[in-house]
Amino acid sequence: MKVPPAPRLLAAAFALASLCRVAAQALPEGRRIAVTLDDGPAVGELKDLDRFQRISAGLLGSLEAEKVPATIFINERQLSVEGQRDARAAVLANWLDAGYDLGNHTYSHPSLNKIPLWQFEDNVVQGEVIIRALMAERGRKLVWFRYPFLDCGPTPEVRQKFADFLEQHHYRVAPVTVDYKDYMFAGPYSRVLRAGKPDLAEKIRQAYLGAIDVEFGEAERISRELFGYEVPQILLIHCSELNSVTLRDSIAIMRKRGYSFITLEDAMSDPAYSGPGKYTSDGGSWFELTADTLGKHVVDDAEGRVPKWVIESGHSSR
Ligand SMILES: [Zn+2]
Repeated sequence: MKVPPAPRLLAAAFALASLCRVAAQALPEGRRIAVTLDDGPAVGELKDLDRFQRISAGLLGSLEAEKVPATIFINERQLSVEGQRDARAAVLANWLDAGYDLGNHTYSHPSLNKIPLWQFEDNVVQGEVIIRALMAERGRKLVWFRYPFLDCGPTPEVRQKFADFLEQHHYRVAPVTVDYKDYMFAGPYSRVLRAGKPDLAEKIRQAYLGAIDVEFGEAERISRELFGYEVPQILLIHCSELNSVTLRDSIAIMRKRGYSFITLEDAMSDPAYSGPGKYTSDGGSWFELTADTLGKHVVDDAEGRVPKWVIESGHSSR
């Protein structure tokens, strides 16, 4: 076979690469995303069973109505309420019976950067008692683990030991690429609602929905900077009251940006998730971890973009 001269080959490669780039930019309908929800099944509702059930049902109903797959990361601490344990565990059965996947987010949400490794590992084991059994009853396997606060350990030794622990327990770590700090809106939203300020709650809801587009734009930009293309994104949001009443609107915003919805497993099959990112720093999004490994720096200040009045309205309604 005749080999073309190197310059021509190079020129062809460049032409192809720029064609691919143009295609990636011109075809936003090719965007894909896996939805994950943390602090499930309903964050911060350790007393009121009705509200706990209502939040979880709002999230599940929204995803089902939109036919969007999702993985829900559970803190089993939320189930351990006197007199409510069975009713709370039944909520998890609802998720599984609707075909949704559950993952372990530890029992009580500690940070691996702040407590000893052995305590953290205990917390992981304690966090799978009910979900593992419920999944086994349905012939399903518990696969996913997500670090609370995305903190993956203070030193290389701790990180390696915990990675070994996860492997022994057959867990895969679920990374995150899109994180629009929903909890910074969700806390104030619930507080002002309970303080009898529905108009202010509505204002926060609008500000939250307004932020989503901006934060997606940032994640897409960073993805192109780091990987040269838009990776299948992995969204992190929380099982909050705010999301239980806005999830269908958020999904509509994502669809408008050209996203279709895939499972976490499918997103993770993209090469972007098998390297070069490693858990080499003490935590963060997959983009931050990848940038750390590559010695690059990504600027993503979603926290800084949350309006001050939103944060303050939560404080004054405590
Ligand atoms: Zn969490």
